[in-house]
Amino acid sequence: MKSLKLAKAAKELTVSNTEQSDQDIVSRQPSILHSPFLWKLYAGFSALIILSSLGMGSLIARNIEQNTLQSIRNSLYANALLLKEVAFSTLLENKEKDVKLQKQVLFTGREIGTRLTVIRADGVVIADSDKNPEIMDNHAKRPEILEAKSGGIGTATRFSRTTSRYRMYLASSVVSNGQIIGYVRTSLPLTVVDQRLGELRWIVFVTTGMTTLVALLIGLVLSHHIVKPLIVMTSVVEKAAQGEPGEKLSTTRTDELGKLAKAFNQLTEYSQSRMEMLTTDRNKLSVILSGMVEGVVAVNRDERVLHMNEAAGKLLQVTPHKTLERPIWEVVRIREISEILEDAITNETDFQRKLELTIASTKRFIEMHASALHDGNGKLVGAVVVLYDVTKLYQLEAIRRDFVANASHELKTPVTAIRMIVETMIDDETLSPEMQSEFLNRVRNQSLRLSSIINDLLTLSRIESKSEKNVHIPLDLRECIRSAEVLLSPLGEKKSVGMEFDLPDHAVQILGNKQELSEVVNNLLDNALKYSQKGGLIKTFLFERDYKAVIEITDTGIGIATQDQQRIFERFYQVDKARSRESGGTGLGLSIVKHIVLSHGGSIEVESTLGKGSTFRVTLPEPEL
Ligand code: ADP
Repeated sequence: MKSLKLAKAAKELTVSNTEQSDQDIVSRQPSILHSPFLWKLYAGFSALIILSSLGMGSLIARNIEQNTLQSIRNSLYANALLLKEVAFSTLLENKEKDVKLQKQVLFTGREIGTRLTVIRADGVVIADSDKNPEIMDNHAKRPEILEAKSGGIGTATRFSRTTSRYRMYLASSVVSNGQIIGYVRTSLPLTVVDQRLGELRWIVFVTTGMTTLVALLIGLVLSHHIVKPLIVMTSVVEKAAQGEPGEKLSTTRTDELGKLAKAFNQLTEYSQSRMEMLTTDRNKLSVILSGMVEGVVAVNRDERVLHMNEAAGKLLQVTPHKTLERPIWEVVRIREISEILEDAITNETDFQRKLELTIASTKRFIEMHASALHDGNGKLVGAVVVLYDVTKLYQLEAIRRDFVANASHELKTPVTAIRMIVETMIDDETLSPEMQSEFLNRVRNQSLRLSSIINDLLTLSRIESKSEKNVHIPLDLRECIRSAEVLLSPLGEKKSVGMEFDLPDHAVQILGNKQELSEVVNNLLDNALKYSQKGGLIKTFLFERDYKAVIEITDTGIGIATQDQQRIFERFYQVDKARSRESGGTGLGLSIVKHIVLSHGGSIEVESTLGKGSTFRVTLPEPEL
């Protein structure tokens, strides 16, 4: 029965999640017997019940005692009134002795179990139901007699030496014509009263005790009824405070606990929606930050890391999640970063600085922008630094500078040579016609060089500018090679360098620009011829491998040292400047080749051994069928 009640009490304020049974919830709650609140409440309840029971008990006992004494007094008084009637004539006659009266008093006193005494106005006892009146003392000074003398009725409770017991006495004066003619006295031993009172007290004690016990049991059930929902509520609130997915409290109760549960549910709903909003915002931010190419590091006022994105982790060579909550100067040992963040926090303004880092033994140039972070109330909460990797920009800038310097230098050389020759010819009028013709020949050579540099530069810029929007059409690579063969074979013959062409019988089709690809083959064959000695052999192969077309040009020329092999594709790079210039080279041929190949989605590689010869291999993707 009790367990049923407890289960019911628990059910009233448990979570309303239908999948969870009440028993589940009860079993998950901390045991109610361990609740200090329950015991405090119950202790208060018990104290109240016990105190009120004691108070009520003693009040009732006292009341009963008074009522009992009153009823004893009443019966003594009634007997005294009867005795008055009996003793009146004897007292009126003021007799010293009345045997008849004595007999009557003795008999009646025994019959009603009450001591009866008749006393004359002077205190002489003339009749008594318990003792011979002749040997009794004068009773004029007895307190009840004194009281009756003045007020008509007197009562006293005292030890009676005559009967050796505590007794209650009631005396009443007997009056005739306004004169006290004597007293009648009735008396009962208090042992009877005590016994009766004791019985009554016992009844009161047992009744009060049982009522108290029942009240204590009811108090326990009531305390349980009040505390149980609070325990359930506390547990749910604690879980919510720890961020566990919200459970809802049942709101079936209409009292304050029901209202509290309702308010709590509203509060959790509100905080949950706020949390969801915050989580969504945080996730969005985190996605944005992790998708950024720029590195982002945020720290709090103590310079402890709040957030570091992947890009920053890569740049600073740390694992972002391992840096969280740790001081920035401890996780990133780059003084400039700690300094710029510290400056942003101290001065609450933006800072911008450059930083040079060496990552995997390559130098990287970083631009740092640091700003102070403020919360919604404008209070400083930390700082954020954004790291831009500007290495590529720096490199492009360096390439551009080198290119301008190289181009100017390359253009200046033939221009200076022409100017000097022309000045000599103008200044020296005695110049022989042979010398004049020799000088003019040199002017022509230099101007040819100038024009070939300018042509190459124009080709390079043309290719670079249109590489994005190149329109490629299907073509047979054999045609590009054949046109180069037609163009360069006479030169081979002139230099006594053999030229062999190994082309497949079927067309090797790719998507591309015929003119540009012919230029690739021309340049490579031209180089092979330029750097081959008399009697050398140049072989050109065209074949297909792994759905790719491959052009391979092999010579038996001077070869290229390993350290120069990657650099030969740079603009104006020439291994042996004097020799290259002599053979009309500009240092731009291979960079033009590389650009064209890359714009066709292909690749170029070189294999070479100094003094033995070189192989240039161009691989171009074939169109998907
Ligand atoms: P250049 O006009 O000077 O030949 P390139 O860009 O065509 O310029 O070539 C760059 C440099 O690469 C050349 O100066 C030369 O030193 C080297 N080179 C190119 N092709 C060959 C080759 N087949 N054999 C040896 N060296 C070569």
